[in-house]
Amino acid sequence: MFDLKGRVAIVTGGNGGIGLGMAQGLANAGARVVVAARNEQKSAAAVRQLGSDALAIAVDVTDEHSVQALVDEAARRCGRIDILVNNAGINIRKPAHEISFDEWQQVIQTNLGSAFLCSRAVYPHMVRAGGGKIINIGSMLSIFGASFAPAYGASKGGVMQLTKSLAVGWAADNIQVNAVLPGWVDTDLTRTARAQVQGLNERVLARSPTGRWGTGADFEGIAVFLASAASDFVTGVAIPVDGGYSAQV
Ligand code: NAP
Repeated sequence: MFDLKGRVAIVTGGNGGIGLGMAQGLANAGARVVVAARNEQKSAAAVRQLGSDALAIAVDVTDEHSVQALVDEAARRCGRIDILVNNAGINIRKPAHEISFDEWQQVIQTNLGSAFLCSRAVYPHMVRAGGGKIINIGSMLSIFGASFAPAYGASKGGVMQLTKSLAVGWAADNIQVNAVLPGWVDTDLTRTARAQVQGLNERVLARSPTGRWGTGADFEGIAVFLASAASDFVTGVAIPVDGGYSAQV
């Protein structure tokens, strides 16, 4: 049920953090993983870690042509595309009255526009394969607000709603589309957050019932579940993987 042998997975932002954790889970379950990100050195290191038949293809997920080139090359080199993880993301931490429109668009385009572009580009390949699995990465800010992240919160709320639209629209094509809402996870992204937002580390630890930050490895299991036959009747949902953060008042 959890076997992914013969499946091909594209993981955007798969060269570090949560994306690499998910890529590792998929590779361990037998999938051939395409690491899709900008930093080629980081991607090469991720491919070495993933081993077996993983490969890296450079992409800027904010660019429509770059996304199409990624999907074309992945299909040419791997023969099929069964799984897409829309994980690439950034944050620019500023209050709403200080963020420029250019910064707003950068965040929305990287976190939300990319999920649309990548999903649209893989759709014909999934139809050809008889079905597929799309996993979108939301956030606690898909459900909560943060004064320092208006564009990020808007993008992650949008990711959750895009998930539902794609799930409903493509159910008849046997494509399941779900979102994962990570809690606070120790990655490059949150290392800068801890440096920029005073008291964040203490607030996260105080509110997390599990009393710790997550790790990339905490996302291996959910990736396998949502990419495998185990979740064939699960679509359009957003699953918190947060150590209980969103369950606690
Ligand atoms: P990360 O280590 O900084 O990973 C972000 C990834 O996105 C990198 O691999 C980066 O690769 C890629 N990326 C960024 N812009 C890109 C672009 N224009 N084109 C292609 N790739 C791009 O941070 P992370 O925490 O693992 O974040 C992964 C996802 O989880 C993000 O969507 C983030 O919003 C979400 N998330 C994280 C947390 C957390 O606590 N860490 C919580 C909730 C949600 P390159 O720089 O090589 O392009």
